[in-house]
Amino acid sequence: MATRSPEAIEAFCLSAQRHWSAQGGRRSQVRDVLARIIAAQELPFTAEQLLSEARRSDRGISQASVYRTLGSLVEAGLLNEFIGPGQLRCYNLVDTAHPGVSNIVCTDCRQVVPLQDDCLPLREGFLAKQLGFTPSKMSLRIEASCEELKRTGTCGRRKTTQG
Ligand SMILES: [Zn+2]
Repeated sequence: MATRSPEAIEAFCLSAQRHWSAQGGRRSQVRDVLARIIAAQELPFTAEQLLSEARRSDRGISQASVYRTLGSLVEAGLLNEFIGPGQLRCYNLVDTAHPGVSNIVCTDCRQVVPLQDDCLPLREGFLAKQLGFTPSKMSLRIEASCEELKRTGTCGRRKTTQG
């Protein structure tokens, strides 16, 4: 799996801990382990993928703590939640430089390709404002079939899939 820089990982873990202590939660080792793994993800992931990776460092981590942690990080604005291939719930890190969440979901290769979409908040945000709304969350999900697969019968993105 692709990995982010140590500084970016540190910054994410710190924000997560700040959110949890602001909520009056006690420091939990399980949550810290999960935050660190999540912070390293460069590509979108599912709760199941996170659970199996987390169990490699701590076999006692439960599915319930994975879901709880994911939920609270979405609430904290540190994670985006969206529907990926096969209607699976996926998560990826919020990119503070690019607040609009846009993903191409390839139904052939079952891959999610994030788009750096700066136009979404500008364009759709502007439209929402004109209608009298202040948008708080925006996402765009493009469901697509794969051109490369259609043309060549294989797809570079597909080969790198795990599961
Ligand atoms: Zn493809």
